[in-house]
Amino acid sequence: MPQPPTTPALSLNNINISIAGKEICHDINLTINPGECHILIGPNGSGKSTLLCAIMGIKPFTITSGTILLNGVDITTYGITDRARAGLGLAFQRPIGLEGVSVRRLAHALGATHRLETAAHRLGVDYLIDRDVNTGFSGGELKRWEVAKLELQDPQVCLFDEPESGVDLQQVGVVSTAINHLMSTPTASGKHRAALAITHTGFLLDGVDATAGHLMVDGRIIETANPRDLFERIRRTGYVPTA
Ligand code: ADP
Ligand code: MG
Repeated sequence: MPQPPTTPALSLNNINISIAGKEICHDINLTINPGECHILIGPNGSGKSTLLCAIMGIKPFTITSGTILLNGVDITTYGITDRARAGLGLAFQRPIGLEGVSVRRLAHALGATHRLETAAHRLGVDYLIDRDVNTGFSGGELKRWEVAKLELQDPQVCLFDEPESGVDLQQVGVVSTAINHLMSTPTASGKHRAALAITHTGFLLDGVDATAGHLMVDGRIIETANPRDLFERIRRTGYVPTA
């Protein structure tokens, strides 16, 4: 019997993104189904963070044309709060500090106090619980807390911006395991999660079950392939596609 078509968890349709009138990302098309983790690779300044921030609805990244659908719902005109409520979450590349707001208090605001210790323990950041969020955290602590934060926030579609960069080699495995755990655990409302993760080093691929890889150069996705094959090719021949 034919299977009913799956509604994508996230679909980007002909998206263009500008910052202060300058177009950074051009004609982006991407479909991520429930259960899938896609990897985004590309040189510095190619527009990877711009894409993730624009999906999340963060200013000054502006979507000038195209549509974003989350579970089939058009969220293109939603502000950041409504996008978060609809099930989007972002682990930042360079998260800002929240002075005066402890990790415990943020977990309480997220309604996730009962899950805080487990999530923090999984990422090895238990000892940060009574510190102010991202204030004075080391590079590795920032990244590990950002992943724990997503576990507390419980989004259906998780966006990770270089979650392993600045994390020491031993802890990269901890981050990958936590991402896999998040991906294999349905949301509180029973939805399968999906993810789009930027990796600069490729280390994430050693531990994360990625289903597809996309190469972004100069604000365009120029190639989509098996993520490990794609990374190997980039290691050998650089970011320029062979074909
Ligand atoms: P990547 O994440 O691939 O390294 P970014 O998305 O951070 O690249 O940056 C893409 C381009 O957008 C770069 O030229 C960068 O300088 C520019 N850019 C990013 N954020 C801003 C901003 N807030 N204001 C102005 N330009 C920005
Ligand atoms: Mg970036």
